[in-house]
Amino acid sequence: MQFEQIKALDETYLAHTYGRYPIAFCGGKNATLEGVDGKKYIDFGAGIAVNLFGVNDEAWKTAVKEQIDRIQHVSNYYYSEPTVRLAELVCRRAGAQRVFFGNSGAEANECAFKAARKYSFMKYGAGRSDIISLRGSFHGRTLFTLTATGQDAFHKYFDPFAGGVVYADADIASVEKAAEHACAVVIECVQGEGGVKALPEAFVKALAAFCAARDILLICDEVQCGMGRTGKFSAYEHYGITPDLVTLAKGLAGGLPIGACLFYEKTKDVFAPGDHGSTFGGNPVACAGGISVVSRITDGFLEEVEEKSRYLRKGLKEIFGEDALTGLGLMIGIRTALPAKEVAQKCLEKGLLVLTAHDLVRLLPPLSITKQEIDEGLRILGEVIS
Ligand SMILES: *Cc1c(COP(=O)(O)O)cnc(C)c1O
Repeated sequence: MQFEQIKALDETYLAHTYGRYPIAFCGGKNATLEGVDGKKYIDFGAGIAVNLFGVNDEAWKTAVKEQIDRIQHVSNYYYSEPTVRLAELVCRRAGAQRVFFGNSGAEANECAFKAARKYSFMKYGAGRSDIISLRGSFHGRTLFTLTATGQDAFHKYFDPFAGGVVYADADIASVEKAAEHACAVVIECVQGEGGVKALPEAFVKALAAFCAARDILLICDEVQCGMGRTGKFSAYEHYGITPDLVTLAKGLAGGLPIGACLFYEKTKDVFAPGDHGSTFGGNPVACAGGISVVSRITDGFLEEVEEKSRYLRKGLKEIFGEDALTGLGLMIGIRTALPAKEVAQKCLEKGLLVLTAHDLVRLLPPLSITKQEIDEGLRILGEVIS
């Protein structure tokens, strides 16, 4: 199909929930995508941190195809080998005890919030059910995760909200004030949608200590900043803390829908049969993709991510200046003189895909991006800025 045809059908038949750039992709290799316009694009977005090994990755394709040739779905009434293999891999890699699989980041967070409430209910009874969420955070689009998203812009139109969420600043006094009826605090160690902001180390450490002292569970939403994105498997490792619940999604299955809620020591036995579920959760094809991804995020691979981050950031500093960059690892925010949306539009015209987050340009390239692809992206950014 030609682009104009695709666009016309999209406008006619899809709900108008997205503002899209005028391009459709049909293929590519690693971090180089092919548009239906026949042009090539360097991908600094990875489908929003999803395609960790880019597109058309041989190992991932083989793993997924082999599973499709066996069985595509089984109900959770039965056992499934790919599901338990991914569970073991993820738990070992993230230092967790157990995992629940869903299909998206929002569902992973819903699971964590339910787990936190049940943990508190079983130990302290009713009335200790608030989730503390940080202003500027993003936790998903379902009604409850939207409530837990600390940005008013997302709350327009959708009243009434479920309640049971209180907001705080990334400041320990502010969290203490909000904690009277709290069972959990949820944080993104590096806020993504909120503007690629790494939380201050002193705050995160103080928060972990406060949570431990009050038996308030610490939930790390690693949907965007996890999966090796920051140069560690989990972004919370940069802070030397241990959370009670962690959520993963985006990159976990390398491009197939999946979400995961990880349970640590305190929470590992909180759920009993019937407490939670998902029809597609633990889907064998998604899990086969996940096994291919997680088994390759070794310590050696994470060193390469660090190395690529240094290389890309050095190039970006030359273009945007020393103080323009935020984030950690290959999760990069750039403060630009031109409006971020305009930078993104101009990059697209020249063959580079970048994201935005508020007034920042945001880069989340595939972790497998090559130096040549980085160089080509930097060249285009340099052209756009000069
Ligand atoms: C993307 C994102 C979510 C929501 O994930 P979905 O798969 O879109 O539901 C939740 N939290 C964070 C930090 C995210 O970046």
